[in-house]
Amino acid sequence: QAKQTGGGRTAVVTGVGAELAMRPAKSDRSVLDAIRDDELRLFYQPIVDLRDRRVVGVEALVRWLHPRFGLLQPGRFLADANRAGHVPDLDRWVLDHACADMATLLGRHGDTAPRRVYVNVSAATLALSVDDSVTAALAAAGLPGERLAVEISEDADLGTLSQAMPRLDALRRAGVGLVLDDMGTGSTSLRYLSQLPLQGLKIDRAFVVGLPHNAGDHTVVKLLADLAAGLGISVTAEGVESATQVAALLDLGVHYAQGFYVGRPQPLDALLTTLAGTPGR
Ligand code: C2E
Ligand code: MG
Ligand code: MG
Ligand code: MG
Repeated sequence: QAKQTGGGRTAVVTGVGAELAMRPAKSDRSVLDAIRDDELRLFYQPIVDLRDRRVVGVEALVRWLHPRFGLLQPGRFLADANRAGHVPDLDRWVLDHACADMATLLGRHGDTAPRRVYVNVSAATLALSVDDSVTAALAAAGLPGERLAVEISEDADLGTLSQAMPRLDALRRAGVGLVLDDMGTGSTSLRYLSQLPLQGLKIDRAFVVGLPHNAGDHTVVKLLADLAAGLGISVTAEGVESATQVAALLDLGVHYAQGFYVGRPQPLDALLTTLAGTPGR
């Protein structure tokens, strides 16, 4: 396949090797280019009530359909986007499209549609413009705030969180849900758990993976479930991959779950098909 007229050793460099040889150390294109050229895609992962298997929500997860590298997970481009200061633009794009897709879901499924779409928001967006971006996205989609929730990674530092508090309060007043993501991995002070206007928290996959046998994971999950119950907020387990994990979670009082066992991230079309075949909320 290497039709090199010059022959020599470049002729044997094909496939991945050829691509590596051709491309710069980093992608030459940024997330801003991806937005402009319509290369971002949203996948939706169901959030399921383990007690009755209903899909109560969906989390929007961004992908980049890169012209040269194919479908990229956020782990491949978020850090660069963050360094370049492009994350607020990315998050605004995601909010706009997730709200529009939620309006589509409501149009198709009405009362049986998932209650909310959950959108991840980075610290840079929290610090800058989360309330404006959310308000604009809801208005453009004609969606009430009750249909959206914002996920804050526990990595967001304390300064950012306290600065963002008035914006988060405004979102809460507009009915938008607020969820603390990746619980247990970050450094958020427990003080913030009672101060943030939270609707729920998500237990990171790192603690679900060892259920039911790892005693340490069992203890952490129980602690977080009890904490959520004490605060009167919901608790969702991430990264649920097996029936034995589901049983352990129910036993510990965790009622909501996400993971490959209960539903993979999928494009909107596939989600619509999935929902048509499962009980609504
Ligand atoms: P997250 O919010 O904690 O999302 C969960 C991640 O776990 C997703 O990875 C999902 O595909 C993956 N996952 C779900 N179920 C399972 C499972 O059963 N097993 C395993 N091994 N993994 C599972 P993804 O899509 O690669 O996203 C990674 C992170 O990127 C997200 O973590 C979130 O922090 C961030 N992210 C995703 N979309 C956005 C976005 O639109 N904006 C921002 N700012 N961050 C985003
Ligand atoms: Mg998340
Ligand atoms: Mg998470
Ligand atoms: Mg996580």
